[in-house]
Amino acid sequence: MNYETLLDKAYENVKATVECGRFEILKVKGHHEGTRTVISNFMQVAMCVRRTPEHLLKFLTKELASSGEIKGERLILSRRLSSKDINEKIEKYVNRFVLCPKCKKPDTELNEEKGKMFLRCLACGEKQEIQKI
Ligand SMILES: [Zn+2]
Repeated sequence: MNYETLLDKAYENVKATVECGRFEILKVKGHHEGTRTVISNFMQVAMCVRRTPEHLLKFLTKELASSGEIKGERLILSRRLSSKDINEKIEKYVNRFVLCPKCKKPDTELNEEKGKMFLRCLACGEKQEIQKI
């Protein structure tokens, strides 16, 4: 067992009751309904990258030039999009808004201060201003 795995295990123990214990970029489960795209596991995807569904949604709709609506666990996008494109955007989101730019750990949080957004790393203490969506 390597160090990362041990850390994940420790995290799991603490957060055993939360829907997604360990950090993970899940692949979206998507299908098309007419001209729309439905992501059935959207809430879980957001939970596992430790961000609010609203924030992730805002990023995705902008990047994918689509409008979107959260319904229960699902996200409904107004355009026909491939799961591959959506997964790529989620990775981009994680790199920009979740992973620490310095130590690359996902133990970070977003804070808003005086109208600016900051990504703060709980692992190494790095704090960087990030672009608002
Ligand atoms: Zn860090």
